[in-house]
Amino acid sequence: MTKQILIMPGDGIGPEIVAEAVKVLQVAQQRFGLDIATDEALVGGAAYDVHGDPLPDVSLEKARAADAILFGSIGGPKWDTIERDKRPERGLLRLRSSLGLFANLRPALLFPQLADASSLKPEVVSGLDILIVRELTGGIYFGQPRGIREENGERVGFNTDVYSESEIRRIGRVAFDLAMARGKRLCSVDKANVLEVTELWKEIMTELSAEYPEVELSHMYVDNAAMQLVRAPKQFDVLVTGNLFGDILSDQAAMLTGSIGMLPSASLDQARKGLYEPCHGSAPDIAGQGIANPLATILSLAMLLRYSLDRGDVAQAIEAAVETVLEQGLRTADIHTEGCRKVSTAEMGDAVAAALSA
Ligand code: NAD
Repeated sequence: MTKQILIMPGDGIGPEIVAEAVKVLQVAQQRFGLDIATDEALVGGAAYDVHGDPLPDVSLEKARAADAILFGSIGGPKWDTIERDKRPERGLLRLRSSLGLFANLRPALLFPQLADASSLKPEVVSGLDILIVRELTGGIYFGQPRGIREENGERVGFNTDVYSESEIRRIGRVAFDLAMARGKRLCSVDKANVLEVTELWKEIMTELSAEYPEVELSHMYVDNAAMQLVRAPKQFDVLVTGNLFGDILSDQAAMLTGSIGMLPSASLDQARKGLYEPCHGSAPDIAGQGIANPLATILSLAMLLRYSLDRGDVAQAIEAAVETVLEQGLRTADIHTEGCRKVSTAEMGDAVAAALSA
């Protein structure tokens, strides 16, 4: 059956980097005979400019109908002052929650060719390959009550960190399944010594581990996890945690690899339909200059093929093509070092497409 991929380029560098991933997809389609149909939809500021809404119904309907979504990035100073509900970021949040994308996968993988780009010593990060699984639709970012109220003559801000057993079990299963397909080690991150909500988190993860006897489950407090990620990150295989801790730890893990331009991500629903996007934003400071790194988006396409289209073989071929190009010494400006050849966004996309078709 033909698989539907929706392309949502978004704002800033989004259209530039997505165009390169589409080039790679076209080559993959030819080489592997993939039965894929693509469509395109506006999102973010680009959608606001046309429809007065960062996620118009027409885009949401297309997203609902697709098997997977390849997303660029949204936002920019042009839309920073419009009413809050219409801002580009709201479009992305609404898209994630409308599609029930509760599992956020953020791999931190360091290509050996880029070991010098990390701020950590090469021996600490070389060969790093960890996966952070973050719960994306619950926890303190969504919990009620929330707000700012007057109390005893001053303002008081408050939020609620809340997880139900079923929410914890659902993200736990995703993490255990992923650990089974990788190194069979899962570390659940909590703050169970202080927060009851994470005490329950820890309990449910422990319960679940009975269903996955092959996976070695460990627990770690979030403050320790933050330390261990910079001290000895290679001790981890898969980490699973809630929305708030995951937000922070995944960015920290991302920086172990040196460049934000290299990092893909996936957000999945129960049926493994997913939204795939680079971890970075719309980089308005370099938009339109043809210098953005498209590799995070190309690697997001690889994740799309692996998780939503069940084509791990094609994903691997794309990842190998990226490695080949890095081995050839091609670098966009953000990862450029002496002795390498500086290339544009389009040249990098062309090189990956060529390596894939070789
Ligand atoms: P950013 O990630 O866009 O940029 C941070 C820095 O990294 C900038 O110097 C930028 O030039 C550089 N950079 C980012 N991606 C790059 C790439 N592919 N190649 C080379 N360099 C790259 O973060 P920001 O500046 O804080 O945010 C800019 C806009 O993006 C804001 O409007 C923000 O709301 C939005 N944003 C969107 C998303 C998303 O679409 N999911 C995520 C984060 C931020």
